[in-house]
Amino acid sequence: MPTSPTLTFHDGRSIPQLGYGVYKVDSDVAADVTGQAFAAGYRHVDTAKLYDNEEGVGRAVRDSGLPRQELFVTTKLWNDAHRFDDAIAACEASLERLGLEYVDLFLIHWALPQQGLYLEAWKALIELQRRGLTRSIGVSNFPLPQLEEIIEATGVVPVIHQIELHPYFQQRELRAFHDEHRILTQAWGPLGQGRSDLLENETITAIAQAHGATPAQVVLAWHLARGIVAIPKSVTPSRIVENLGSVELRLAEDELVRIDELDRADGPAGRDPADSGH
Ligand code: NAD
Repeated sequence: MPTSPTLTFHDGRSIPQLGYGVYKVDSDVAADVTGQAFAAGYRHVDTAKLYDNEEGVGRAVRDSGLPRQELFVTTKLWNDAHRFDDAIAACEASLERLGLEYVDLFLIHWALPQQGLYLEAWKALIELQRRGLTRSIGVSNFPLPQLEEIIEATGVVPVIHQIELHPYFQQRELRAFHDEHRILTQAWGPLGQGRSDLLENETITAIAQAHGATPAQVVLAWHLARGIVAIPKSVTPSRIVENLGSVELRLAEDELVRIDELDRADGPAGRDPADSGH
């Protein structure tokens, strides 16, 4: 069974570098497919209040038969709960839905700069970690100025920043900042959300052919080689297994550089974190 490598956070804890994402998966389906992912060898699952499937994910964790400490569970604070007390209550409610005593990682889902509450939310996450409700704390979808601000204001550096990232959208500026501050970079949409032009890109398919691998495995192997934590989503059993197989694929440096060169201006598929959001 393939096993993901782990990366170590600056707080001393560690995270399996390849995880399993469950965006847009119904709660009942999430219980089933997350269980399949654990059986295939994944040890890291990424959910969120927004996904409305924390119950199913929690059920899979409890039914897996695996010791809790062998699994890494992430959930996220949704945008309507950025005030300090609301953020504390939101984490407690997520744990209740998950049926867990703690999560391994709690993230602010979006900064929402115009709302002006991201710093309050970050202070709440610091408190949640102090209380033991989450082992580690991080952020998602933060523009650079807001990321700098929460660090300067609190002196507490997020262990990880989850952002849209794939070969067409490589987020070099943020990644350089992360490297300077020992923040791990986590890719959402690591497969470009399944957009066919990425998985059919001729550089990707040629490298895949050379290794007898699939395009999705090549893209994921690139993330892993570049030190990025990736959480691909699939509800298709064969793809769940296929995606984890990327941990066994080693690309040559010249192949990695050819993929580095695919970065392009119209790369992003998701919304801009600098927007006010909903
Ligand atoms: P993704 O890049 O993981 O793409 C998933 C899609 O790719 C699948 O629906 C399927 O269509 C296709 N796919 C998966 N495996 C494949 C394979 N082997 N071959 C061909 N096609 C394949 O996109 P995502 O689901 O948006 O992102 C992954 C995870 O990141 C989510 O499930 C969620 O946990 C997280 N996420 C977070 C945010 C955020 O704002 N923080 C936003 C989006 C997603």
